[in-house]
Amino acid sequence: MHKNFKGIEKTVFGRGSFNQLGEILQEKRNENAKFILFVVDQYFKGKTLEQRIPSHPEDIVMFIDVDPHEPTTEQIDQIRDSVLSSKGLPAAVVGIGGGSIMDIAKAVSLMFTNEGSSTQYQGLNLIKKPGIYHVGVPTISGTGAEVSMTAVLTGPEKKLGLKCEWTVFNQIVLDPELIASVPRDWWFYTGMDTYIHCIESENGTLNNAYSHAYAEQALKLCRDIYINEGSGQTSVNDDKLMVASLMGGLSLTYSEVGVCHALSYGLSKILGTRHCYANCLAFNHLEDFYPEGVAEFKEMIRKHQITLPQQQSKGWTDEQINKMAHVSYNLPHMWNHAVGPDWKKTITIERIEELFRRL
Ligand code: NAD
Ligand code: ZN
Repeated sequence: MHKNFKGIEKTVFGRGSFNQLGEILQEKRNENAKFILFVVDQYFKGKTLEQRIPSHPEDIVMFIDVDPHEPTTEQIDQIRDSVLSSKGLPAAVVGIGGGSIMDIAKAVSLMFTNEGSSTQYQGLNLIKKPGIYHVGVPTISGTGAEVSMTAVLTGPEKKLGLKCEWTVFNQIVLDPELIASVPRDWWFYTGMDTYIHCIESENGTLNNAYSHAYAEQALKLCRDIYINEGSGQTSVNDDKLMVASLMGGLSLTYSEVGVCHALSYGLSKILGTRHCYANCLAFNHLEDFYPEGVAEFKEMIRKHQITLPQQQSKGWTDEQINKMAHVSYNLPHMWNHAVGPDWKKTITIERIEELFRRL
């Protein structure tokens, strides 16, 4: 069976395209209880972007601090319950922020129409009904969350996405002006998520002409942004980074991620390490799986004077390492892609523990 994916319905790209958001939402305003829920990264509270949000008096503008933790099932249920009980079913949900806010907007849209706790829908195609109309406005680029069909949530038992066709945004607004304020280290880590998506998508059994075309182009853009002459956090490169993030996401959608993401999930689940940073920590030590990719990654680290901690694993207990290895091992689709259908012959809990001990 070949994958059969739904794409984003509408995309607007370009500097200043955020100004079109009001007009885009206008035609939806009469739906349901006729108000719009904006979920916005707390970073923008008090910044000029707050004034530019095209909200009406009846709308809810909810600022969310994404720094204490990645989105949780409890947080999604709580947002859904409080909005439904105070104002009813919104006409639309608009997420303005990074991958965390993209996932919150996608998950809340689905949970408005699916009863019970979001924990029961963590997995593939468990959602029963389409969510409400939802729009993504990314303000930091790299995770590909703006294009993916999953909303990653941490629940009491697992970190796993609500993954189905209805998760995909109805509309995205890609305005590169919005990513100009991203701090330099996050610009690097989050952009590297895209780079790693492409390297992993390319190096595995599921790679195909379709995923390859996106990865090839996204890698070319990443090299312009992080290595080639003119690299750095400039407006020209911000335009490129927004497109690279989208294409990297599309590449992995039609292929798969690999060893680095398997390890990264272990780090995030057991130690709470953030996705893009965890990827950088792991990828730095994966030369035996991705020799060229890791060499180029190290060149980019040097070029942008990024310091990654060394020998962190010395501070971890055997139990923590064992738990992380189990989280990673339980992602068979990633190992299958990266190593092949016989992956269990070479990838064992002990081998994965050894990979974590390199960090
Ligand atoms: P994020 O949303 O977690 O934000 C990172 C930091 O950047 C925060 O401090 C935020 O306030 C700040 N920030 C965002 N925009 C800014 C701006 N324009 N200027 C200054 N600061 C800004 O970042 P992320 O790395 O994009 O997202 C990580 C999340 O994405 C994780 O929760 C991860 O699980 C999820 N994720 C989802 C998918 C998916 O396909 N759904 C894929 C990968 C990762
Ligand atoms: Zn990723």
